[in-house]
Amino acid sequence: MFSGSDVSGITGGAFFSGLTGEAGSAPPFLVTALIILLAVVLVALFAVTVLYRSRESRIRRKEQAEREVAVRRRIRPSDKREVFERDNYTCQICGISRDYLDSFCEGLGDYLLLEADHIRSVSQGGTGRDIDNLQCLCWRCNRKKGGNKTNEQVRDMIDYGIGYLNDDSEW
Ligand SMILES: [Zn+2]
Repeated sequence: MFSGSDVSGITGGAFFSGLTGEAGSAPPFLVTALIILLAVVLVALFAVTVLYRSRESRIRRKEQAEREVAVRRRIRPSDKREVFERDNYTCQICGISRDYLDSFCEGLGDYLLLEADHIRSVSQGGTGRDIDNLQCLCWRCNRKKGGNKTNEQVRDMIDYGIGYLNDDSEW
């Protein structure tokens, strides 16, 4: 086991005497400056490495989180069909349905764009793998709902009829 004096005797002392000393080639202040410079370079390299590693791990964590969100957002086509059939192809907010449009003109209901909505949004931890977290919405109510509103809040927002059609703030 080394004591302090052993270490300086073996490494430090020999090193300094070799560089400064007896050969007399380099003045001591130049050696000191070189050592300081070397230390600064080493510290800088260390800092760059640490920063790079933390940036890498931050990017990895972000990518991992994005992958998890993508998995939770995904809705299987069979689940989507099941949700539409369960909700009778009817928007769960405004109540428009394929049958309602077909009552005006046969086939008109096919023009209604229905979507499967995450009741509890993906950004709030909801998943598309659970059909109890899915509902049938028309595209317009789904845009209004976004990621942070409930059906009731959207119902309060929308003004049915002409007012609704004239609301061109978002589309
Ligand atoms: Zn609707």
